[in-house]
Amino acid sequence: GRTAHNNGQWKPCPTTKLFINGKFVESKTSEWLDIHNPATNEVIARVPKATQEEMLSAVDSCSQSYHSWSETSILARQQIFLRYQQLIKDNIKELARSITLEQGKTLADAEGDVFRGLQVVEHTCSITSLMLGETLPSITKDMDTYTYRLPIGVCAGIAPFNFPAMIPLWMFPMGMVCGNTYLLKPSERVPACTMLLAKMLQDAGMPDGTLNIIHGQHDAVNFICDHPAIKAISFVGSNQAGEYIYERGSKNGKRVQSNMGAKNHGVVMPDANKETTLNQLVGAAFGAAGQRCMALSTAILVGEARSWLPELVDRAKALRVNAGDQAGVDVGPLISPQAKERVNSLIQSGVDEGAQLLLDGRNVKVQGYENGNFVGPTIICNVTPQMKCYTEEIFGPVLVVLEAESLDDAISLVNNNPYGNGTAIFTTNGATARKYTHKVDVGQIGVNVPIPVPLPMFSFTGSRGSFRGDTNFYGKQGIQFYTQIKTVTSQWKAEDSTVKTPAVSMPTMGR
Ligand code: NAD
Repeated sequence: GRTAHNNGQWKPCPTTKLFINGKFVESKTSEWLDIHNPATNEVIARVPKATQEEMLSAVDSCSQSYHSWSETSILARQQIFLRYQQLIKDNIKELARSITLEQGKTLADAEGDVFRGLQVVEHTCSITSLMLGETLPSITKDMDTYTYRLPIGVCAGIAPFNFPAMIPLWMFPMGMVCGNTYLLKPSERVPACTMLLAKMLQDAGMPDGTLNIIHGQHDAVNFICDHPAIKAISFVGSNQAGEYIYERGSKNGKRVQSNMGAKNHGVVMPDANKETTLNQLVGAAFGAAGQRCMALSTAILVGEARSWLPELVDRAKALRVNAGDQAGVDVGPLISPQAKERVNSLIQSGVDEGAQLLLDGRNVKVQGYENGNFVGPTIICNVTPQMKCYTEEIFGPVLVVLEAESLDDAISLVNNNPYGNGTAIFTTNGATARKYTHKVDVGQIGVNVPIPVPLPMFSFTGSRGSFRGDTNFYGKQGIQFYTQIKTVTSQWKAEDSTVKTPAVSMPTMGR
C-alpha cells in the first residue's frame, strides 16, 4: 500500500482502483490526489489521475462490450437491474458509511442520498415499458410506420462531490438499461461509494466491460469530451465545469446534459403555516450543510412574514453541528478547508456590503473535531440583489434573507436571478400558490415542499442558468437522452399474401 502524511506520521493509505473491463486495477500513474475525511482532514485514501493509456483501455472496453450488450434482450437487462436494486437495498448502511467518511454528511442524510439513487434504479426496472416505440398503422393502403428506441453507444458520466450515490445512480443505470455501455468519472473527492456501487452491479450480473470507471480531474474530463467513441455525456456539478463540458462535448458532436449551480428561493407568505414553514426552511437551508443543489439558500419573507425572523434564528441555532457519524448530529462539515474558506469569505462579503449577520456560524467549535471543516448555521438578513452573497452560489449552511412587499415583488426577484433549479412557496392560499407556480421561471417548484426533487417517473427539470442541454436527467427525458429512434415505414401488399389455405390450429408464436 501507499502511505500518507497525517499529523506528522506516515501511515498506510488505501488506493482507489480503476474499474476496467470487469477488473478493479491499480493505476500505474505517478499522480495521486489525497482524499480527506472532512470531519478531521485526515487523509483516508488516495485516488489516481488515470493515465491516457488507462483511459483509452477503459473506453475501448466500453466499445467492445457494446456489441453484445446492446444486443442483449431487454428482459435480460431488466433482470440485472432487478437484482441490482435489491443489492443496493441490502447494502444501504455500508454505502452510507462510505459517504459519511468521504463526504461528511450525516449518516441519516447519507442513507437518503443512497435511497434517492435507488429509486432511479428501481425505475430502470420498468424499461420494458419505458423503451416502447410508437406505431401508426395504415398510413396508406397496406403501409405502416413504427419506431424503435435503440441505444446510442458508449455514454459517459461526470459526477460532483455532493451526492456520491444519488448522482452516479442518475447516470449509468439509466444509460445501461437502455443498452448502452458506460464510462464513469466520479468526483475525485468521493470515489469510494461509486466503487462499491460498481462492485454490486458486477455482482448483479452485469457483463465485464459494460461499465468502466476512470478517475482524475481536467485531463479525464477533456478525454471524455474529446474521445470519438463517446456519444453522450451526463454532467452534474458547477457552472464553471458544466458550461465548459457542454461546449467542448457539443462541439465534438456529442449529446450533453448538464445540471449545474443554483440559488433556490423559498418564498414565505404571511398566510403560511408558521410552525411547519420555519421548520422546513431551516431543514432545507442547513441540511447537508447546505451542500445540495436544491438547498433553499435564499428566503424571501413577504409582508408580515418578516416578523418571523427571530424565530427562524432560534430554530437554526438549535441545530447540532458535529461529525456526520455522531449521534444527534444535524449539520456535518463542509467538503474541504477551501470550501470552508470560501463560505466564510462570502459571509464576510455580506457584512462588508451592509447586510446584517443575525447568526454567525463561522467560529463554531466541534469538540474532538477541531480540524474539521465546520461552519455552523448562518443567517444573513437585509440582503439586496446586488450583494455578492446573493449573486454567488454559497454552497454552505448559509441562509440569505431578502424581503418583499408583495407576491409580485417576490416573483420578479426570483425571475431576475439567473439560476432556475428549484424554488418553493409556503402558503395556505391555493390562488397564491397557483399564481406563483404559473409565473415563476424556475424548473422545479415546491408548494409547501421545501426540496422538490422529482421522483424518477418525472425528470429533474432544472432550467435557465442551472441547466444546459435539451433533455433532462431520468424519467421519460432520461430515456430519450440515452436512446435514438429508428423509424420504419413498411408496405406489405395484401395481394402478395402467400397463405392460400387456412391454418385452423391455435398459433404458437414460433414455438
Ligand atoms: P465541480 O464542478 O467542481 O465538479 C464536478 C465534476 O467536474 C468533478 O468530477 C470534477 O472533477 C469536474 N471538474 C471540476 N472542475 C472542472 C473544470 N474546471 N473543468 C472540467 N471539469 C471540472 O462541482 P462540485 O464542487 O463537485 O459540486 C458542487 C456543484 O454541483 C454545485 O455548484 C452544485 O450546485 C452543483 N450540483 C448541481 C446539481 C443539479 O442537479 N443541478 C446537483 C448536484 C450538484
